Amino acid sequence: MHYPVNELFETIQGEGHFTGVPAVFLRLQGCPVGCPWCDTRHTWTQEAQDRVAPDAVIGAGDGQPRWAEWPLEALVAHLTGPSYRARHLVITGGEPCLQDLRPLTERMEAAGWRCQIETSGCFEVRTSADTWVTVSPKIGMKGGYQVLRSALERANEIKHPVAMQKHIDELDALLGDLPLAGKVVALQPISQQHRANDLCVKVCIERNWRLSVQTHKYLNID
Ligand code: SF4
Repeated sequence: MHYPVNELFETIQGEGHFTGVPAVFLRLQGCPVGCPWCDTRHTWTQEAQDRVAPDAVIGAGDGQPRWAEWPLEALVAHLTGPSYRARHLVITGGEPCLQDLRPLTERMEAAGWRCQIETSGCFEVRTSADTWVTVSPKIGMKGGYQVLRSALERANEIKHPVAMQKHIDELDALLGDLPLAGKVVALQPISQQHRANDLCVKVCIERNWRLSVQTHKYLNID
């Protein structure tokens, strides 16, 4: 079992339910979803000429499409070794659910870590039962993928980027009759826009939903 890794770094989780929690971010390479505003386009493809040695992806990346294959055992040994103080692993991408994350998340939990994934919801979620699943549903993107009902059902948190009313409407249409009891539903204003902030605050108050602010963008940290 190998995982294609774009970068591996320790920081503070900047958004969503675990905002403020020290975390190790594992960014996996590969995503076919095609969001036009994606800020990690360098993770989309896995080209042979961009492949590097595993150690070369340790630390925050520089926005390059470099990637390395990490064997499961080496990845677990690195994460649970002396390099990190955090005990919260965020597996993101790219699209992490292109991979079977069960072996990794189960091994990390056995070592005392909590795992979280951040996914578009367009692929089957394969994680340990205790992994915190954050679905940020990508609706109607260029890649032509549908958000899976099974991913929404599995989600602990549904976190939706919002710039305008249209985005609230499309979330409502997507959720339909999905039972939301026990789930965190969060609206996240896109790009610190004042209009988006105002809309998200208004709707969160009306519906008793959570506001997710991208604090790392205000703090200017990775
Ligand atoms: S799902 Fe995420 S990584 Fe993939 S294109 Fe959309 S924003 Fe980018």
